[in-house]
Amino acid sequence: VKVYFAIFTDENKKPDGVIAVFHDVTEQQKLDEMRREFVANVSHELRTPLTSIKSYSETLLEGALEDKETATKFLSVINSEADRMTRLVKDLLQLSRLDNNQMKWNITKFSLEKLVRDCIQKLEISANEKDQTIECYKIGDVEDVEADRDRIEQVLINILSNAMKYTPKGGKISIYVGKMYSSVYVKVKDSGIGIPKEDLPRIFERFYRTDKARSREMGGTGLGLAIAKEIIEAHNGEISVTSDIGKGTEFTIKLPVKCGL
Ligand code: ADP
Repeated sequence: VKVYFAIFTDENKKPDGVIAVFHDVTEQQKLDEMRREFVANVSHELRTPLTSIKSYSETLLEGALEDKETATKFLSVINSEADRMTRLVKDLLQLSRLDNNQMKWNITKFSLEKLVRDCIQKLEISANEKDQTIECYKIGDVEDVEADRDRIEQVLINILSNAMKYTPKGGKISIYVGKMYSSVYVKVKDSGIGIPKEDLPRIFERFYRTDKARSREMGGTGLGLAIAKEIIEAHNGEISVTSDIGKGTEFTIKLPVKCGL
């Protein structure tokens, strides 16, 4: 708390009164702290791929280019690190558009169940590679929603690919689509590694990851869920998570039938 004092004096310059203003700065400090942490995270996340691009290209220039096999290996690392930076910058730009209310929403009426089935189809090949089954169940009658189909697809793909990433080979992912009062929900339940209880409240924060090394290895930027939350909340919806370590995780998205965007 910051305290400002103003002392009043009478005509003889004797103290006559005082005004004290108590200014609660904790909220502002918290915001400043978050901004600093965000900038530090962005710098770190950009520097990591840059460092490896730099060292691999230097080694190539110093002669590794002569050995075709080594050269191909190094170039493919450089290529995938460049892809990682592209993903990161794309995510950062989208977050900044969401923060500044500069998103152009394209609202149409569509079936959430159909969208879920389209997403499953897009992920089928990688699911097959891991021997995973993805199933979708509709619970009762589900109305169409009015929302930005591409953005909701982006959120679903992110949650589904996380479910696949963090579920071992042969695991199962079940999706339930249903209606609740004037909202429609999608639940994505996996049989994966789960999220520790203490991490759950922070999982939607920018760059928060339960296991940084594993997430990076899998190509994640650590921004997917933060973007998902912004998109769902812009639609006046809610996103939540429950998890049992070692058993699995369940993400729920609730969308109003009419989002009001
Ligand atoms: P990332 O790009 O790292 O996947 P996300 O924002 O999509 O970033 O997810 C943040 C973190 O949440 C992940 O790094 C992972 O630790 C955790 N996470 C997300 N989904 C799951 C899941 N289904 N099971 C276990 N952990 C998960």
